[in-house]
Amino acid sequence: MAATPRLEIRNLTRRFDGRAVVDDVSLQVMPGQVTCLLGPSGCGKSTTLRMIAGVEMQDSGSIWVDGELICDTHFRIPPERRRIGLMFQDFALFPHLSVAENVAFGLTGSAGEKRARVETMLDRVNLRRFIDAWPHELSGGEQQRVALARALAPDPRIMLMDEPFSGLDNRLRDEIRDTTLSVLKDADAAVLLVTHEPDEAMRMADDIALMRHGKIVQQGAPYNIYNAPKDKEAVAFFSDIN
Ligand code: ADP
Ligand code: MG
Repeated sequence: MAATPRLEIRNLTRRFDGRAVVDDVSLQVMPGQVTCLLGPSGCGKSTTLRMIAGVEMQDSGSIWVDGELICDTHFRIPPERRRIGLMFQDFALFPHLSVAENVAFGLTGSAGEKRARVETMLDRVNLRRFIDAWPHELSGGEQQRVALARALAPDPRIMLMDEPFSGLDNRLRDEIRDTTLSVLKDADAAVLLVTHEPDEAMRMADDIALMRHGKIVQQGAPYNIYNAPKDKEAVAFFSDIN
C-alpha cells in the first residue's frame, strides 16, 4: 500500500476578481520531505500557502493532512488546530518578548516543560547562549534561526515557509539554508517551501513543483527538472542559476 501523504491538496482554486490566481493545484508532501513551490513573483505561491495555513479560503478544492480532510468548501478546521508551523519573511519575532518567550509562544504545559522545550529548540539552532537576549540584539540570520526554533517548538506536522530567507544577504543565506535543512530533517514535518529562486529550490528540495500563472506546470526531483525543463519558459527561468 502506498504511504499516506502528510499533506495533500486536491484541485485547489482561488479567484480574485474573477481571475484564478491559484488554478486547480494538486500536490502531495510526504513527512520528512521538503517540497519547493517554485515560480516567478505573482504566480500564486503565497495564496496557495495561505489556504493551507487556513488564513485564506479556497473557492474549490480540498486540503488533507495524514489522510484526514481539514478543509473543503463545506468544512474547515481552524488554523490554530491544524498543527502547522509557519515561517514567513514578514512574520518576524515579537520585539517585546525575549528569545525564550518567543520560542515558548505557541507552547502549552507547565513553565518547566516549556523551558525545557525552549532549551532543546535553541540547542538545535545553536543559539542557546541567546536564550535571555532580546530580538534586536541578534543579527538577521540569528533572528531567522530563532523564528525556525519557534515554528518547530510545538512539533508541527507541516511547516510552511514563504520566502523565509529573502531578507538576508547572499553569504548568510547559504549558511542558514543548510542549518534550516538539517533542523527540518530532524523534525520529520512535511515542508512546503515557497521561493522564486531556482538555486534555493535546487539546494533545499527533495521535490520541486514549478508554478506559473496559478498552475503547476512541472513536478519532479530537482535534478530531473533542471536537466529536462518542460518548455522554453522553464528553461529561461532556470537559466538564472549561477
Ligand atoms: P506569489 O506569492 O507567487 O508572488 P501571490 O499568491 O501573492 O503570488 O499572488 C498571486 C496573484 O494574486 C497576484 O497577481 C496578486 O496580485 C493576486 N492577489 C493576491 N492576493 C490578493 C487579494 N487579496 N486580492 C486581490 N488579488 C490578490
Ligand atoms: Mg509570495
